[in-house]
Amino acid sequence: MDWSKFDPYIDSVASFLALLFIQGLLFRVIRERKPHWLTKTHQRYILFFLVGIYYGLWGIYFTYSGAISHNPVIYINLRMNILLLMAVFFGRIALTSSYIMIIIGRLWIVSNSLANERYIIILTFFYLLCLAATFFKVSSAKKYLLILLCALPGLYLYYFTSFNSYRTLTLREGLIYTTSFFFSSTIIFFAARYIRYSNEVLMELQSTATIDSLTRLKNSHHFNQQFETNFREALLKQENLSLLLIDIDHFKKINDSFGHQAGNLVLREIGTILKNRALPVQAVAARVGGEEFAILLPKTKQEEARQIAESIRHEIFQAVFPHQPFKHSVSVSIGVASLFQQDVAQYKTQEAFFEAADELLYLSKKRGRNSVSAQPFTEKGELG
Ligand code: GH3
Ligand code: MG
Ligand code: MG
Repeated sequence: MDWSKFDPYIDSVASFLALLFIQGLLFRVIRERKPHWLTKTHQRYILFFLVGIYYGLWGIYFTYSGAISHNPVIYINLRMNILLLMAVFFGRIALTSSYIMIIIGRLWIVSNSLANERYIIILTFFYLLCLAATFFKVSSAKKYLLILLCALPGLYLYYFTSFNSYRTLTLREGLIYTTSFFFSSTIIFFAARYIRYSNEVLMELQSTATIDSLTRLKNSHHFNQQFETNFREALLKQENLSLLLIDIDHFKKINDSFGHQAGNLVLREIGTILKNRALPVQAVAARVGGEEFAILLPKTKQEEARQIAESIRHEIFQAVFPHQPFKHSVSVSIGVASLFQQDVAQYKTQEAFFEAADELLYLSKKRGRNSVSAQPFTEKGELG
């Protein structure tokens, strides 16, 4: 037995693991920065098409390596692993695009038409098997086993049929190739599943660490971090930054009259209203205290911020809450502060800026609640 035959096999499994790792990292970045790419149908299709192309390109590389090392059995196994991976983890679009890429690559690299025919037959057989598996609503492990078991007869036909040109494998060789195929695909399957799982766990941890569990808005820890960075950047880039502080009016009464649970429902409902609002990109809406909320509006001038605050106040005042089936049962008071007034920075520290918004909120309360207060501007560029 010539063990060196397995060198390219080991190399390829190692490079396959590197491919998986890189793709996992890319997906992690996408989940963090563009989570809608994974949920919205159109973007999802494009993303999975690109995943298919990415692995398809590597399939072509494996074809090329197989062609120069004259060890096609080894390399066809790796291309099968690509299809297997696409079917189990990425679905039909990725599967089909990688299959087409691999076939095109093969026809382009190898000119022997008989060998190509034989190759296309076995790969198409495997592709159809993978495609069928994607229709089963079972766990990834079951899909993987299903494909492997159903592939066996096809693999044996491939190994032991001469197709008029190739020599057939001996039984011993056939067994070794099958075992190595199973072995490599098992390593790849577990690695892919582990990468996906760790990405999901990381996302889950990140989101529980930054999200308020009752309202699903950002929590105050995340808000403070964002406030700090945005304040620093706004001063540095001389861009405006506005801050809305929102406090529910007479919330204690709601708790006292309808119970703590009803109070929680109101908080959740207001969370939903704030989440569903079309806020400028980069806005951060958070629950920063018991019944207090804050909205950070980067690159937003005072007048625009005041209008946003006014429409939030109005929307909440018009809303019907579960415990009270009529309007006007809940209102909020809002303070609006903006960092720049006529291009002059108003506050030296983040604390002073927050303090100003808080004072304006207090002013809204004093004015009789259910109102918005924004800072007036004087000629000297100071707070009036
Ligand atoms: P004001 O109009 O002056 O803001 O009056 P208020 O009653 O809203 O303000 P106050 O600060 O007196 O009371 C806030 C109440 O919010 C007291 C507290 O029990 C309640 N609260 C704080 N956190 C929660 C929460 O998570 N759930 C519920 N149900 N109530 C909460
Ligand atoms: Mg309060
Ligand atoms: Mg209150």
